[in-house]
Amino acid sequence: MKTNEQGPTPIAAQPEAETSPKCGRCGASMVRRQAKNGPHAGKLFWACSTFPKCRQVIEMGSPGGGVISS
Ligand SMILES: [Zn+2]
Repeated sequence: MKTNEQGPTPIAAQPEAETSPKCGRCGASMVRRQAKNGPHAGKLFWACSTFPKCRQVIEMGSPGGGVISS
């Protein structure tokens, strides 16, 4: 059944305002992660939910969400 009603689409799950981006490599949704160690320790970034199958990551904090293209 289709509705032509306009309005905000109720998004289930994710209470955070930020919507998770799609992986540019495999199309899977991405999950928010925090670097535990290394030079970027403590930094938040988006990682592909299929990690380690796909290691696509998107840096957080840059305006508009900086995509790391490889
Ligand atoms: Zn991916």
